[in-house]
Amino acid sequence: ARRNANDYVHQVFELVKRRNPGQKEFLQAVREIFDSLRPVFAQHPEYIRDGILERIVEPERIISFRVTWEDDNGKVHVNRGYRVQYNSTLGPYKGGLRFHPSVNDSIIKFLGFEQIFKNALTGLPIGGGKGGADFDPKGKTDREIMRFCQSFITELSKHVGPDTDVPAGDIGVGKREIGYMFGHYKRLRNAYEAGVFTGKDPESGGSLGRKEATGYGLVYFTVEMLKHHGLDLEGKTTVVSGSGNVSIYAMEKAIEYGAEVVACSDSNGYIHDPAGINLETVKQLKEVERRRIKDYILFHPNATYTEGCADIWSIPCEIALPCATQNELDEASAAKLIENGLIAIAEGANMPCDQEAIDLFLEDGILYGPAKAANAGGVAVSAMEMSQNSMRYSWTEQEVNEKLHRVMIDIHKNCVETAEQYGFKNNLMVGANIAGFKKVADAMVAHGLH
Ligand code: GLU
Repeated sequence: ARRNANDYVHQVFELVKRRNPGQKEFLQAVREIFDSLRPVFAQHPEYIRDGILERIVEPERIISFRVTWEDDNGKVHVNRGYRVQYNSTLGPYKGGLRFHPSVNDSIIKFLGFEQIFKNALTGLPIGGGKGGADFDPKGKTDREIMRFCQSFITELSKHVGPDTDVPAGDIGVGKREIGYMFGHYKRLRNAYEAGVFTGKDPESGGSLGRKEATGYGLVYFTVEMLKHHGLDLEGKTTVVSGSGNVSIYAMEKAIEYGAEVVACSDSNGYIHDPAGINLETVKQLKEVERRRIKDYILFHPNATYTEGCADIWSIPCEIALPCATQNELDEASAAKLIENGLIAIAEGANMPCDQEAIDLFLEDGILYGPAKAANAGGVAVSAMEMSQNSMRYSWTEQEVNEKLHRVMIDIHKNCVETAEQYGFKNNLMVGANIAGFKKVADAMVAHGLH
C-alpha cells in the first residue's frame, strides 16, 4: 500500500509539473503538501480510487480579466485581474485579493491552493479561493485606487456573491479597497448583499475584530505552541517582519503577552529598536499616513534603519514571526536565526519560509507553526463576518475575539494530534497539511465524482 501511495503521489506531481511549467511558487506549495500526504494515501485507498489528489490540485475555475483604469492625469492603464475558484467542497470559495506588481498565475494559484487547507482547518464552512491583480497601489492617489477598485469589481462582480465566492483583503487590499469594491458591487446589483466581501468597515457590515484577527490569531497559536512545551512569551525577544495589518496586530498581541518586540520592516528595509518597537508610531505611519517604515527613526532616534529586508533575520531573537510575504526567509536566514538562539517561529504571511528553511527548523527542533494553521485567524474571522451578515446581526469585539481564540487553540490541537497519529510527533507542518486535506478529501468522496 505504501509503494502504491508513493507512486500515486509521484505520478500526480509529475502531471502538475507538466501542466504548470515554470510556476515556481505554485509548485513549491504543491510539493510541500504532496510530500506530507504520502502516509495518508497508504491508509486511504478510496482517495486514490476517487482521484482526490489530481482533482484537488486542479482549480475548479480560473478567471483572468482585463482591468482598465484612468490615472489622475487622464492616462489609461491596463492591469490583469485574477480570481481562482479553487475548491468549493466545504463552502463558498473564500480567500483574499492581493494587489501587488508581483501577482501572476503562479502566485495566485499557490495562495489559492494553500487557502483550501487553511480554511478547512478553521472548522468553518468555507471553500478555497484567491484573487488579485498585478496593480501597484504604492504611490497611487486615493481616487486612483477608487477607480481601479471599481473597474476591477465591474468584471469580478459577475463571478462572486455571498453564496458563491467571497473575497477579502490580502497584501495591498484593506478596508479602504474593500469599501470601494463593495460600494460599486452594491450599485451594480441594486441589492445590499453584505456577505459578498469580508473585511468591510464595521459601519457597513464588517465584523469587529477582523482587522486584528490574523495577527492576534498568530500570537494565540504561538502561545499554544510554546505552552505545549512548557514555555511562554513573557520576556522573549521577538522579531516581526512586515508592518501591514498582520504584522501590526501580531506585535500588539505579542507585547500584551509580555514579549519584547524589537524589529519590523516594510518592502524597503527594517527598523531595529532595542528599547521595544513603539506601536503607536508604527500605526500612525502605516495605517494613517501611509508612509514608509524608515520614518520611524525620525521619532525614535535610538532606533536604526537598515535598507533591504532579508537581513532582519540577522537580529538575535527567540521568537520570529515572518509577516511580510512569500519566501522572505531562506535557509541562510534560518541558520542565522538558529545560531542566535531561536526557540519558535510562526508564519503570519503565506509561505514566508522556503522549504530549505523549514527543513532546517524541523531538524533542529525549533518549534515551527506553518502558515495554514498559524495565520488562519484572519479567514476564520472572515467566516464569522459571513455568519453575522447572514443573521443581519453583529457580535461584540469580545465575542469575536473569544471565538477566534477558541479556533486557534483547536487548530493547534488538531495539528498536534494529527501529526502524532501519523508518526510525525512535533511536526506541525505535516499535521496541518494532513488535517486540512483529510477534511476536504472526505467531503469530496462523499460528494461523488465531478
Ligand atoms: N488573505 C487572508 C489569508 O491569506 C484572509 C482571507 C479572507 O479573509 O478571506 O488567509
